[in-house]
Amino acid sequence: MTRTDNPMKIYALTLGMFMVNNYLVVNPDTRRAILIDACEDYQSILRQLDQLKAELVYLINTHGHGDHIAGNGAIIERTGAKLMIHRLDEPFLRDPNLNMSALLGVSLQSPPPDRFLEEGDVVEMDGIRLQVLHTPGHTPGHISLLADGVAFVGDVIFRESIGRTDFPYASHEQLVETIRTKIYTLPEDTVLLNGHGPETTVRHEKAFNPFVRG
Ligand SMILES: [Zn+2]
Ligand SMILES: [Zn+2]
Repeated sequence: MTRTDNPMKIYALTLGMFMVNNYLVVNPDTRRAILIDACEDYQSILRQLDQLKAELVYLINTHGHGDHIAGNGAIIERTGAKLMIHRLDEPFLRDPNLNMSALLGVSLQSPPPDRFLEEGDVVEMDGIRLQVLHTPGHTPGHISLLADGVAFVGDVIFRESIGRTDFPYASHEQLVETIRTKIYTLPEDTVLLNGHGPETTVRHEKAFNPFVRG
């Protein structure tokens, strides 16, 4: 699907036990790509890269929960992509209790990150620019990524719902603050591409989100 005039195509891959939306952001001219989140069905993600004949350059985790990082190891091993995450979620990559894979009886660990991302950073690749917003609450180091007219918001906000905060180091108050100050302040037409479920817009959530009124 094409969303903007800039050299960026976005492919949403909804995969895995938790129906995670993994996003491939591709420059169709250079055939290089950025992957946002990597669930356990890494084979399907690699297959999509093959079909696009695209080379994966960066893998960005919006946060460190198991459903978003389970594919990190295999994908990095096969593609050599550089891994990026916020410093405050780095412990989740190493600790199966924090990333909650222990609850499923698996001990999930990710390779270490190559770069830490924080508020104000920009990830650039072949004319694609992803601006980093620190959006804590669901996890302490949750980030969202802003590009022309779209925001990849992970598990911060869903269509008429918000991220869970009954997890270690989660904070409902902080999540609400994040949504008010970092998401609802974006242009109203901004399309919110989230970690689970259908996309939405800032305008729609301000009007209809029952948890955080705009
Ligand atoms: Zn999560
Ligand atoms: Zn999730």
